[in-house]
Amino acid sequence: MFTDRFSYTGQPMRVIFGHGLTPLGEEVRALGISRAVVICTPDRRPLAQMVTDTVGAAAVGILAEAVMHVPAEVVDRCERQSRNLGCDGYIPVGGGSAIGLAKALALRTGAPIIAVPTTYAGSEMTPVWGITEDRVKRTGRDPVVLPRAVVYDPTLTTGLPATVSVASGMNAIAHAVEGLYAPDRSPIVSLMAREGARAMAAALPRLVHHPCDHSARGEALYGAWLCGTVLGATTMSLHHKLCHVLGGTFNLPHAQTHAIVLPHVLAFNAPFAPEMVTALTGVFGDGDPWTALWQLQKSLPMPLSLADLGLQETDFPEVIRQVTANPYHNPHPISRDDIHSLLARAWAGHPPDPATTITDSNRVLISKERS
Ligand code: NAD
Repeated sequence: MFTDRFSYTGQPMRVIFGHGLTPLGEEVRALGISRAVVICTPDRRPLAQMVTDTVGAAAVGILAEAVMHVPAEVVDRCERQSRNLGCDGYIPVGGGSAIGLAKALALRTGAPIIAVPTTYAGSEMTPVWGITEDRVKRTGRDPVVLPRAVVYDPTLTTGLPATVSVASGMNAIAHAVEGLYAPDRSPIVSLMAREGARAMAAALPRLVHHPCDHSARGEALYGAWLCGTVLGATTMSLHHKLCHVLGGTFNLPHAQTHAIVLPHVLAFNAPFAPEMVTALTGVFGDGDPWTALWQLQKSLPMPLSLADLGLQETDFPEVIRQVTANPYHNPHPISRDDIHSLLARAWAGHPPDPATTITDSNRVLISKERS
């Protein structure tokens, strides 16, 4: 790796870990925010109230309107409300949905974000935004949406149900996996990716069995931080593209979709991403990383098939059309047959198998598509 050329841009943000919510007031003052709006999903309103109370007079309202996939109409409505409140800063508290809404608003208003993440999805560490309109999820990068400060408090995640913990943790691991074969990876990113995946894989079984174990919750948030940083520093590949299509167009739950698809994309890309395989060997358990990850998932409370999430086989052609029409980078060149085969395994809940995707007929298809 050190004979390779690379560049790495550190993100300008502060991370305050494990000090509870108390540091929020200082961060609000440091950023010169005097009219903060706290953002959350409808069921996290009590938590948003706690944040508001901590911030005091500098918090002027709560928008408990965040939902999955950041629908454009919600952004429109919340932009009007936050402008009416004279908002000059956002404090999303919750998971990627709350942080995603704050990012979409910051994209329009330019107001800074202080994030208080309470799931393990890792969105707080990235300048990546996403907005869903007409059943298509658009994503982009803009430094204005990168939170200026992140307050990690593991105690806020002890009530996170095991199923949500596992799914969002797997979502974070997906960021690490794709960072390990991203075209703009670097030794520093690979270091964070391996350590982030390791920490998350170690923490998830512990916190499933002991939800109030602060050390496991802390390790999961630390993993989320690292995995999110990897996503923020690198280009997304096939896995994220597939999940954006499945979430944006078919409204499949984001984190669970990531979790189910990941071992299959990992296996598919493995022959073209030896550094990723080396980095992840032993991280999820014994054997090859895709089987070890799938086995780990089987031991955790999460759905294992896209069919369980409501995807129909008749949806495959549209998924394949969108994924191949506007493909993201991927180390393994893709064909429609590859995507079909990968989807079919993930849909049925079969174990991942690189052999099914590296057939001679696929090779022919790949080379045809390249020519
Ligand atoms: P989420 O934010 O939708 O949260 C899932 C559920 O858990 C919600 O009902 C929420 O209210 C609840 N919840 C959150 N914290 C809780 C807590 N501590 N205790 C109990 N319940 C709690 O799910 P998510 O997986 O965190 O985020 C998914 C979204 O994040 C998707 O829209 C995805 O696109 C986005 N995302 C974006 C990025 C990025 O970099 N832009 C990265 C990862 C995910």
